[in-house]
Amino acid sequence: MAMEEDVSNDVLLVLVASIIVWGGLGIAIARWKWRSPWLGFALGALLGGIGVLVFVLWPRGGWRCPRCAERCRPDAKVCWRCQWTYGVQL
Ligand SMILES: [Zn+2]
Repeated sequence: MAMEEDVSNDVLLVLVASIIVWGGLGIAIARWKWRSPWLGFALGALLGGIGVLVFVLWPRGGWRCPRCAERCRPDAKVCWRCQWTYGVQL
């Protein structure tokens, strides 16, 4: 019985470690992709390597500048490249 408990503890430890590792990786990718860190954590923690891989292939968040077609942060109001102001037609 003691052996079985040890094994289940090891499984639990591996499970928790993988959630931390993949979840952390998901958060890192979320920051890079300008997406919600919770979405990245959930994808990594629930789906592991597959979730992280899907997230890597996921298109980046934010908006595309209509003047220079550059990707801008979702919270940005002005294009970092050409200073085009979001929501204001010039
Ligand atoms: Zn621009």
